[in-house]
Amino acid sequence: MPVPDRPAYHLYRWLWGSLDLLFPPLCGGCGRRGSNWCTDCDGQVNKIQYPICDICGQPRKVSGLCFHCSDDKPSFTKLRSWALYKGPVREAIRNLKYRRNVSLGLVLSNPLVKLFCDLCWDVDMILPVPLGVARLKERGYNQAVLIARPLALNIDIPCETQGLHRVRETRSQVGLTLNQRRDNVRNAFKATKEIVSNRRILVVDDVATSSATLDACASALLEAGAEDVSCLTIARTSEQF
Ligand SMILES: [Zn+2]
Ligand SMILES: [Zn+2]
Repeated sequence: MPVPDRPAYHLYRWLWGSLDLLFPPLCGGCGRRGSNWCTDCDGQVNKIQYPICDICGQPRKVSGLCFHCSDDKPSFTKLRSWALYKGPVREAIRNLKYRRNVSLGLVLSNPLVKLFCDLCWDVDMILPVPLGVARLKERGYNQAVLIARPLALNIDIPCETQGLHRVRETRSQVGLTLNQRRDNVRNAFKATKEIVSNRRILVVDDVATSSATLDACASALLEAGAEDVSCLTIARTSEQF
């Protein structure tokens, strides 16, 4: 499927681009002045290479299912990511998430547009992984929305930020074992039946680590009647759980 060309997306891009006139952009990966994403950083991206696990997309030595997916299948049908969470990609995501460089949402959505078009998935709706109320208030924005919205405009699929809610705060997944991560996010999400019922959903997030969060989102969506759930993230960690 070729990368589409949507007027709404160009308007969104133009609005963000006009901010660059007021605040000259710095590269999200290395901080160099001139553009939001420089060619040096682009050349250092560790793109996910096949073979990968057919379900969770974890890089492997052979295709098929990884140990975790064959042992305990996740609720989502597929998860794919653009790159490993390393180097300039890691830096750009941290700048988007923790340092308020919100224009990087648009920059980081571009490779997801290409990835989505290459995958040729049939989906009806895009849902960003929601933050809890307290975290959203503290940060002021949800980085997953900033990635999902330009992706949705570009591929002309609605982005529904009300389709999924985080019903309780969860602690950071950093430093937790796989079982602790699953416990941490279990029943943390609730989906809106009227929005997701009988729909094929694409859940979008910035990083997948153990995929426990995406699994919990998919469970909530299927429980509310979603037909199918697949997931896309910018990056994934290379550690095995
Ligand atoms: Zn750079
Ligand atoms: Zn797997």
